[in-house]
Amino acid sequence: MNAPASTNPERRRQVSDALRTRLPAHCVLSDPEDTRPYECDGLAAYRQLPMIVTLPTSEAEVLEILNVCRELQVPIVPRGAGTGLSGGALPIAEGVVISTARLNRIVRVAPYARTAVVQPGVRNLAISEAAAPHGLYYAPDPSSQIACTIGGNVAENSGGVHCLKYGLTVHNVLRVRVATIDGEIIELGSEALDAPGLDLLAVFIGSEGMLGIVTEVTVKLVPKPVQARVIMASFDDVVTGGNAVASVIAAGIIPAGLEMMDRTSARMVEPFVKAGYDTEAAAILLCEADGTELEVAEEIERMAAVLDGAGATAIAVSCDEAERMRFWSGRKNAFPAAGRISPDYYCMDGTIPRKRLAEVLTGIEQMETTFGLRCANVFHAGDGNLHPLILFDANQPGEFERAEAFGAAILALCVEVGGTITGEHGVGIEKINSMCVQFRREELDAFFAVKRAFDVPMLLNPDKAIPTPHRCAEFGRMHVSGGALPFPHLERF
Ligand SMILES: Cc1cc2nc3c(=O)[nH]c(=O)nc-3n(C[C@H](O)[C@H](O)[C@H](O)COP(=O)(O)OP(=O)(O)OC[C@H]3O[C@@H](n4cnc5c(N)ncnc54)[C@H](O)[C@@H]3O)c2cc1C
Repeated sequence: MNAPASTNPERRRQVSDALRTRLPAHCVLSDPEDTRPYECDGLAAYRQLPMIVTLPTSEAEVLEILNVCRELQVPIVPRGAGTGLSGGALPIAEGVVISTARLNRIVRVAPYARTAVVQPGVRNLAISEAAAPHGLYYAPDPSSQIACTIGGNVAENSGGVHCLKYGLTVHNVLRVRVATIDGEIIELGSEALDAPGLDLLAVFIGSEGMLGIVTEVTVKLVPKPVQARVIMASFDDVVTGGNAVASVIAAGIIPAGLEMMDRTSARMVEPFVKAGYDTEAAAILLCEADGTELEVAEEIERMAAVLDGAGATAIAVSCDEAERMRFWSGRKNAFPAAGRISPDYYCMDGTIPRKRLAEVLTGIEQMETTFGLRCANVFHAGDGNLHPLILFDANQPGEFERAEAFGAAILALCVEVGGTITGEHGVGIEKINSMCVQFRREELDAFFAVKRAFDVPMLLNPDKAIPTPHRCAEFGRMHVSGGALPFPHLERF
């Protein structure tokens, strides 16, 4: 969906002139030839050319940009690597993008404190690479970690395969420096285990660029385990596989990773990565154990017994690091591999209680018939975080709309079984209507009140993540509680 570019060249000139008086010329892009690469993020179905893109090289320059935008009332969209899948970094026609691409310095690695201090544009994987000589790494590992930035991870509260055991971004970030819309720097959190006052760090993490611009992050580092091994278990139906996930957790085991792929996913990825997946199985579980050699041996034995008891038809255990990496490579490359079997795919992200996994998978299977589209399921099963990949062809009239409707139906099912409309990809613009399904007006009002406390002029990433009551009314999907409509004053619309 290509939205029209800014139609006001006067305004573009006014804002870019103001920015160029305070920043070096190479930090301000206003020619559409230069701003085109920023027109979308990972939700490439939505595109919007921004009015201006800025590339600050220091915190002081970020503050200058915020000052200009506040003075001239220009909306701002922060951007890391643009790998977000919910349109969080989608530009605004009359707005300024602040790209953190040049804020990419690792300030320091402190091995004794087991922390690293980094600028927001540092790639997730680069943190672990810098910590590796000290036997340490940064645990949250989104599949996009080769490209995505820590600033984007903070804004989305990103997760990954190892988050079941080691926690999400929110559990691994100690402190952030934030440039506010008022042109000030605030620090949230501390390098100690706790900080005095309200826990605003937790409020900020996952706030999708709506509360401030992250200019520096202090992350926790953890020791690299001596050993890690992974079990690949096959199941002849998805429901048995889903129940096996619940059995592993119920046995008191917290694996370092517990992921599931259905047959469609295994078949789409196997020719691409040659991971050795059982392409006849209806579902494959990948269960990782890490620790000392003894701990790993014991956990692998326990997990294998649970999986066997839960109905696994085949069990293979990685025998060395190369094989472990191969087993994971299929899971990590599942999204790009979807391009092999379908011109387009739509990656959903919802979370459900683990015990409802089998039921939801059956529901999604039925929706494939209802919407006439295929769906490959890849997910962080241990967290109950689903990533259905809806396969479609945008060149076929109506298929994109059907894919969107399919996605919305999956999210509605997630809410119905007691889950949520996002696990780790955020709301952005993609799921903004589904927020009307999940939350009541009072809850949405409370979110806006938090936003206003940080951003009085409402210029930071506006119209993302939190829907207005009007939007929910237009969408027609209001959260009905106790039979009462939440927006009676909007009924006339
Ligand atoms: C192939 C693929 C696999 C993926 N796998 C995972 C996965 O396993 N787990 C997962 O959680 N996600 C995953 N993602 C989604 C995405 O990579 C994450 O959401 C990631 O955190 C986005 O980082 P980014 O630097 O690309 O941010 P962007 O996409 O550039 O921005 C994301 C959001 O953060 C805001 N933002 C960016 N930088 C700042 C800043 N400095 N200050 C304030 N706000 C900021 C933006 O405004 C936007 O709202 C995947 C994406 C792809 C394409």
